[in-house]
Amino acid sequence: MPNDRDIASLRRRLLERRRRLVESHRNTNRDIEQLQDAPKDPEFEESAQLALAEYTLERLTDSQRREAIQIDAALGRMDAGEYGVCEDCGGEISLERLRALPFATRCTDCAQEIEKEQGRGVAYVPGTM
Ligand SMILES: [Zn+2]
Repeated sequence: MPNDRDIASLRRRLLERRRRLVESHRNTNRDIEQLQDAPKDPEFEESAQLALAEYTLERLTDSQRREAIQIDAALGRMDAGEYGVCEDCGGEISLERLRALPFATRCTDCAQEIEKEQGRGVAYVPGTM
């Protein structure tokens, strides 16, 4: 199990990574705000805000969105004291693995099992079950 110091340093890395993800959105927002610096009708403002939020979400790539979710989940596990525990077997995720992949949710063995399964090409195709 990683000790407090390990967790503190991994948490810093996660927060830093998350900050960078958020910052790339913020730049997008700034661009849009400049474009939308027009009429001041309150109703218009509200719908513009809504459109802005949707637009920002759309601008996130799938992998960025997934990463932000994984980072939040990892931080949540740290707060809950469950960080570093494999979600499949309940075993310990090695510190080496956590350093390489701070938001890993599975130990090396379980992750390899899943990779093996996926490598076999048994992909789930909707409608065939
Ligand atoms: Zn495991």
